[in-house]
Amino acid sequence: MNIIELLEANKGFASKLYKGLLKELVEKGQKPIATIVSCSDSRVPVEIIFNQFRPGTFFAIRVAGNVISDSSVKGSIEYAIMHLKTPYLVVLGHTECGAVKAYLAGINEGEIGKLVSNIKVESKELSKAVIENVDSQVKRVSEMDCVKEALDKERIEVYGMLYDLREGKVKCLSKNGVSCGRGTK
Ligand SMILES: [Zn+2]
Repeated sequence: MNIIELLEANKGFASKLYKGLLKELVEKGQKPIATIVSCSDSRVPVEIIFNQFRPGTFFAIRVAGNVISDSSVKGSIEYAIMHLKTPYLVVLGHTECGAVKAYLAGINEGEIGKLVSNIKVESKELSKAVIENVDSQVKRVSEMDCVKEALDKERIEVYGMLYDLREGKVKCLSKNGVSCGRGTK
């Protein structure tokens, strides 16, 4: 597929879908149900994996390694929590994450090195390291003032989740810092 075909594909989207919804979202504003911080990896298309195809569902922040890093990420989260008041905040990691691989490989140069410096995990095994990274990013996001305040007022729930690239399934790892027990999915 090339760019011309992508633009053609957009015409298909614009011509048939959601006209009323798009108008309503512009006139009344957005009210997404969740803020999701996920990886930029093309295999983790957030709306598609949650089977949501209507615009306005997620306030999506995609950054390699789903890292809670600089003001681009934190400012976006603060906006979603304080102004849009999304009731859920999800850090969504995934199996086989390239950013976590880069951390494990000791990459520390250039802008990638700076990004990877936001990942700190002890495990040397990729499958465990990606989970550890979700836990650590959940901790980081939970330390943001706006998130702490929203948690105190029980205005949000903060989740750590993991997407399995092979199975297409999302698993809950934690809710408000507590491990998701059996039956919590
Ligand atoms: Zn990734």
